[in-house]
Amino acid sequence: MKKCVLPLMLLAVFETVAVTLWLTKDNMFYLFNFSYIGLSVSLGVFLFIRKYRHARRVVQLLVGLYMLIYLGLICRENMQIEGFWYYLFTGVFEAATIHYAVAKIFGPLIFGRGWCGYACWTAMVLDFLPFKVPSQPRKNLGWIRYITFSASLIFVAAMFILPVGNLERIMFWAFVVGNVLYYASGIALAYVFRDNRAFCKYLCPVTVFLRPMSYFSLLRVKCDKDKCISCGKCRRVCPMNVDVTDNSRRRENGTECILCMECVKNCPKGAL
Ligand code: SF4
Ligand code: SF4
Ligand code: SF4
Repeated sequence: MKKCVLPLMLLAVFETVAVTLWLTKDNMFYLFNFSYIGLSVSLGVFLFIRKYRHARRVVQLLVGLYMLIYLGLICRENMQIEGFWYYLFTGVFEAATIHYAVAKIFGPLIFGRGWCGYACWTAMVLDFLPFKVPSQPRKNLGWIRYITFSASLIFVAAMFILPVGNLERIMFWAFVVGNVLYYASGIALAYVFRDNRAFCKYLCPVTVFLRPMSYFSLLRVKCDKDKCISCGKCRRVCPMNVDVTDNSRRRENGTECILCMECVKNCPKGAL
């Protein structure tokens, strides 16, 4: 029964969001949407507690495929960063704006970059590639994300300034083309740097929101210094090059932690 407490607590949080949005926006979709995501995340946490090896991948596939195929391709909602700018400019607090507010802007204050570890449909595919642990030191290329971030903003702003007709249709195709570009560049970068998460580290525009917000995250992996024997295994298995033995918020690559728990699973002393 103890193993069910955390999953049930998480489910309760998602259900609260689901019911609140359903009632305030008078739209049943929110009840379905957040209940589904809550059930997927809770199931994943339950499986993780039961020590099922692929628990994280199960959540990634359940949530990632739902967002990419159902919300993106079937419901034709642009859930990428361009969709966020689009709904923001139209002044509508719907779809991508709610998604960004919950998963990528305010949510990270509580669960850090849990989105990146458990729900992102780009990483869902990249994590199938063979370079699960980076074999080279991290490159100083993080500045590229500011270019992709600015490009997405300029693209949507230009459509409003020009102005262009048929915006909904353009946004749908922007979602399709955007995803193809993300997957193509993500796979290419993974092979060039021999690192599945190279796209996340250097190119992803969403990290411009995620990194500063997750700095304050409530949920963090911490190290029990009394148990740690400084073997360095946690560092070697971390896909994001985080120095998890340092408990300060300024630890090396601290805002890159995706809460994948590889370090926790591999620590020989149970120090994390
Ligand atoms: S950094 Fe970007 S691509 Fe990578 S998991 Fe996070 S949101 Fe997805
Ligand atoms: S794997 Fe565990 S014992 Fe080894 S350095 Fe990391 S926290 Fe310390
Ligand atoms: S291995 Fe540990 S420190 Fe690295 S991303 Fe995963 S949870 Fe974070």
